Amino acid sequence: MEPVAFENLLRRIAAAATAYRAESGARPHRPDIAYRDALARFSAPTPQRGASEDEVIAELMAQAPPGLAAMTGPRFFGWVIGATEPAGVAADWLVSAWAQNTANATATPSASAIEEVASRWLLDLLDLPRESSVGFVTGATMANFTCLAAARSEVLRRAGWDAEADGLFGAPPINVVLGEEAHSTIFSALRYLGLGAKRVVSVAVDGEGVMRADAFAQAMRALKDPTIVIAQAGHINSGAFDPIRDIVPIAREKGAWVHVDGAFGLWARAAKDMQPLAAGFELADSWGADGHKWLQTPHDCGYAIVRDPEAHRRAMTIAASYLPADAERHPADYVPELSRRARGLPTWAMIKTLGREGIGAMVSRHCAQARRFAARLAEDPSVEIMNEVALNQVAVRLGRDMDGERSDALTLKTIARIQREGECFVGGAVWRGRQIIRISVIGAPTTDADIDRSADAILRAWRAEREAG
Ligand SMILES: *Cc1c(COP(=O)(O)O)cnc(C)c1O
Repeated sequence: MEPVAFENLLRRIAAAATAYRAESGARPHRPDIAYRDALARFSAPTPQRGASEDEVIAELMAQAPPGLAAMTGPRFFGWVIGATEPAGVAADWLVSAWAQNTANATATPSASAIEEVASRWLLDLLDLPRESSVGFVTGATMANFTCLAAARSEVLRRAGWDAEADGLFGAPPINVVLGEEAHSTIFSALRYLGLGAKRVVSVAVDGEGVMRADAFAQAMRALKDPTIVIAQAGHINSGAFDPIRDIVPIAREKGAWVHVDGAFGLWARAAKDMQPLAAGFELADSWGADGHKWLQTPHDCGYAIVRDPEAHRRAMTIAASYLPADAERHPADYVPELSRRARGLPTWAMIKTLGREGIGAMVSRHCAQARRFAARLAEDPSVEIMNEVALNQVAVRLGRDMDGERSDALTLKTIARIQREGECFVGGAVWRGRQIIRISVIGAPTTDADIDRSADAILRAWRAEREAG
């Protein structure tokens, strides 16, 4: 492709991208077509002959948008998903254009250096031990996996076993202790690591879904072998934090490794007024966090943070004769992948654009907006807010005056109606035996007016469903 033609192509996608994002708030907050329709639009025999770049990208721009979710929209509250911000998106475009395979510092100095600087900033912002190492992974799932691989390696090493060389067969058994309501991806990580999703010690939780300190102490009392404790900073439904200050001393006594799943909640530490919620989490040994949630970087962006860089490297280093090895920080030594994009650039760009103040202000604002959302919804006496809204998550039950089954059924119908009408987007979950609407306020463009508008839309949909059924 001629440079001028390439530039024109990039200009066209730049125009399409800015238009798409500028209209995010005005469009319905749902895809216009479902998966089957999207599949039909793109289904075609394997191309025999190539087509021009212009044609291919024009087809993408014409056919994909009806099936795009409103994840950049100001009233998107589904799952826990950041909206992305311009600097992160722009940096990500450069990541693709520069095409740096960011495995090795000698091979790609700038991308590796930027990642190292971003890692120092992250430790500073999240106020975690500055000696920690940071692996830039695809998300919190892989962050948890990576940290738990380091944990597995280290607790076995202390027991005289080399997990990297000898695997797990015949190794001293490892206890894994976690809260009953640990995030589903923790169990995936345990499966990948041969630790088993089911052979865990499950600690009873309180009404917010966090480990009960007494139950944790009780569970730990009986344990002797190498132990990994997995705590949570930010429960997926309530946003609540495990009692880390009770957990760590007991874990220390047993020589246990404490890992923290802090996908979004760890960012409370970056906001002065929210920091007390997450105080004490710096005492852990490793932390998983996301950039693509609260920091608003594009996907895929997560951080595996490990206090003991040697344990981190031991679990992840890929050594090969063709890879330069020296004292520098080589990005691939801290992650499962070898070939990888320059994942640190969007993080660097977002931290630099927002600054400590901007990040803190955004996190605080989202938490205040979550409280506002909850208060608006609770003006209807038939609505129950099931969590203490301390962070950015709101768990909503509709029909508190009804029997459970009817309330669950109507809540599901209300969610479907809200999604159909598209004024805002919310999803559901089952929590404490009840169907809930789960609201996550985490997208940069959300204003207070968007909160009010969305609360009104939810209450309207709820009243309509209640009258209908
Ligand atoms: C989102 C989330 C994860 C998984 O993170 P991904 O970035 O989706 O891989 C893990 N734990 C918690 C608490 C989360 O919110």
